[in-house]
Amino acid sequence: MVNRTVLISGAGIGGPALAFWLRRHGFAPTVVEVAPAPRPGGHAVDLRGAGREVVERMGLLDTVRAQRVDERGFAYVDGRGRWTAKMPADLFDGEGLVAEIEIMRGNLTRILYDATREGAEYLFDDRITGLSEDGDGVKVTFASGTVRRFDIVVGADGLHSGVRRLAFGPEQEFVRHLGGYMGYFTVPDPGNLDHWFLMHGAPGGLVAGIRPENGGTAKAMLSFTSPALDYDRRDVPAQQDILRAKFAGVGWLVPQVLAAMPGADDFYFDSLSQVHMGRWYRGRTVLLGDAGYCGSPLAGLGTAMALVGAYVLAGELSATPDDHEAAFTRYQDGMRAYVEQCQTLPPGGVKGFAPNSGLMIRMRNLSMAMMTRWPWRALVAKQFQKADAITLKDY
Ligand SMILES: Cc1cc2nc3c(=O)[nH]c(=O)nc-3n(C[C@H](O)[C@H](O)[C@H](O)COP(=O)(O)OP(=O)(O)OC[C@H]3O[C@@H](n4cnc5c(N)ncnc54)[C@H](O)[C@@H]3O)c2cc1C
Repeated sequence: MVNRTVLISGAGIGGPALAFWLRRHGFAPTVVEVAPAPRPGGHAVDLRGAGREVVERMGLLDTVRAQRVDERGFAYVDGRGRWTAKMPADLFDGEGLVAEIEIMRGNLTRILYDATREGAEYLFDDRITGLSEDGDGVKVTFASGTVRRFDIVVGADGLHSGVRRLAFGPEQEFVRHLGGYMGYFTVPDPGNLDHWFLMHGAPGGLVAGIRPENGGTAKAMLSFTSPALDYDRRDVPAQQDILRAKFAGVGWLVPQVLAAMPGADDFYFDSLSQVHMGRWYRGRTVLLGDAGYCGSPLAGLGTAMALVGAYVLAGELSATPDDHEAAFTRYQDGMRAYVEQCQTLPPGGVKGFAPNSGLMIRMRNLSMAMMTRWPWRALVAKQFQKADAITLKDY
């Protein structure tokens, strides 16, 4: 087979999912990941629509279901922990803000890795530092000093993709800052969540959230509105200082969450940003998931886009293994409308999610209470149907 060897940068969601489908179609995938092991961390991600269908086609739906988080819904609380608005999951038959299948991102990464570790080559603790393409392949240089050749290179290395930088240009050409930041990390279960995902909004565009997970811990989320900040993405203590300064004096469980933050081994902090590009491929290099079309946690369908993108990209490569350019074109054309829908932000964008003043917070709570009632409920349900906005081909 021509174009048989495929190097995938990034072992998050899209990378291992692509390795799975490439292997199934007879390709030889190699995955290089900068972290020493599949990265844990992140909140629950929803599996709905086409993303869920891809997992089902992989034969992994039962494994995912066995690890799903038992969440009854989503509620806002005030500074003293009193509930001010709630949205039960069953109101939307598991297709609302909390989906029927919510799984911790780190657990999904691990499931996808376990399903592919035998069939794909994994290189941890390494990354691509140079790409040089000629007529029949790409010469790849790794940080470890190794040099190897591959037929195709895929950047599935997230919002700050190294492959995108090497093959397409600097990040600022493609990444749009939406006006906020978000941190996620594991904390001890406060004991009073009762299977609800609780959030507290405070003036100044601050939102804190805690959601239950299985086994005595919970996932905390701290988010704030802000123009782009200058900080070192590798300096975790400095990022934690930013969160401590922003959330100083905020009530509810926030002091407990901040106290637990330095002990978390899965701390993750990043900007709320989207990636928009005219083309997701150049020569023998192509982008998948957040690297090419990040929607941000606010849009909420990043995992679905990465899973669906992996399925379509592998399928199209298998349809014309001797013509990668035709395959990349069909991948992009087939995904574009779906990606545009998935990138649509909920009304108000970051400011709608993290209102600035006490009055706006009260109005947001009121509007959430309305959303649970007819006829608004039908409108909200429509918001989530975009997860189905693609028909998966059989390859
Ligand atoms: C730790 C973590 C937690 C997250 N938590 C959430 C969340 O709670 N909610 C949410 O909506 N989204 C979250 N995201 C983003 C979410 O995973 C993606 O939007 C979505 O699943 C698409 O996946 P992806 O495979 O494209 O990217 P990602 O899941 O981001 O995976 C990218 C992978 O590439 C690796 N990588 C980065 N740079 C390089 C490099 N130069 N060379 C090699 N490897 C590299 C990263 O370590 C990571 O493993 C999180 C991402 C990460 C990395």
